[in-house]
Amino acid sequence: MNNIISITKQYLPDLSDASCARLEVIADRLVEMNQHLNLTALTADEEVALLHFYDSLTLLTTGLFEGEQNVLDVGCGGGFPSLPLAACTDCRVTSNDATAKKLKFVEDTARAAGIGTLTTLCGRAEELGRSADYREQFDRVVSRGVARMNILCEWCMPFVKVGGYFVAMKGNRGREELEEAQTAVAKLGGEIVSVIDAPIPVFDRSHTLLVIKKVAPTDELYPRPNGRIMKKPL
Ligand code: SAH
Repeated sequence: MNNIISITKQYLPDLSDASCARLEVIADRLVEMNQHLNLTALTADEEVALLHFYDSLTLLTTGLFEGEQNVLDVGCGGGFPSLPLAACTDCRVTSNDATAKKLKFVEDTARAAGIGTLTTLCGRAEELGRSADYREQFDRVVSRGVARMNILCEWCMPFVKVGGYFVAMKGNRGREELEEAQTAVAKLGGEIVSVIDAPIPVFDRSHTLLVIKKVAPTDELYPRPNGRIMKKPL
């Protein structure tokens, strides 16, 4: 077991050996590829263990990722939270990003780790969300570090099935962002269910999970072309 996994397991003692084995492959590839692709600035063992793995797995505290949920990760970058989520749950994960190079890393890493439940989807979220192939097709949509909540909601909510959930992974300003996004949540067919504190040990960071339930279909007006979304957020 490498050091990254021992640290992760120290804070998440219930992780199975199989999950840890998959995380170990992910950790090795992340460290190895980091310099070449500049996928993530985090390389020290504790940073990978806690700011990537532990942080991604705070999603499990919502109780929404049990069973074979169909999950879309919007703007997954180097694979967070996608890769830990697929490594440690039975969810079927679709990893989306606008950059093909990043998805290649995610896909190759999932394969190397023996994860058969992750697929990738390249494109801009606000364009894919207008396609019938993806619109309202996911039980859960997650996103970390991608955009402010009012903008992120317009990118993400169209993908969620009615009755499903969007979980936005935010830092210590999550509540403020949610305040600002209240109109967006309502206009897109959402309802705020809870704000869950997800503190990160050692680094003493106060992260939050913003949990939105989709209670009505998203109006066909949304998502608007991105220029409009950015210029006039809901
Ligand atoms: N979720 C990862 C990466 C965050 S960086 C993590 O937390 O580590 C933001 C990522 O979002 C980048 O990889 C960028 O390519 C992607 N992105 C930004 N705008 C996007 C959009 N409109 N649609 C899809 N991906 C987008």
